[in-house]
Amino acid sequence: MGKPKELHRFYKSKAWLIARNLKTNATQGKCERCGAIGEEVHHKIRLTVDNVNDVNISLNQDNLELLCKDCHNEEHGRFKKKEVLFDDDGNFIG
Ligand SMILES: [Zn+2]
Ligand SMILES: [Zn+2]
Repeated sequence: MGKPKELHRFYKSKAWLIARNLKTNATQGKCERCGAIGEEVHHKIRLTVDNVNDVNISLNQDNLELLCKDCHNEEHGRFKKKEVLFDDDGNFIG
């Protein structure tokens, strides 16, 4: 089992920035669900400390989805239930 620190490190990594940019370019910066301005890149298979080092999950374009805030919130059911979306340093990890 890894530590939440590894998630933090991942979201600060150059590899993630590149994967994010690729996804944003591929979708012209639009939410893949509603076409609004995409602001957050979502992992379809949720990123956890156990799979963060698996590039087939963490960096796979097919596992990423550019979403606007509303669709991302809805995806995580953030308005219905409390889900932990921040690591212990307060960084968004949704
Ligand atoms: Zn949307
Ligand atoms: Zn997400």
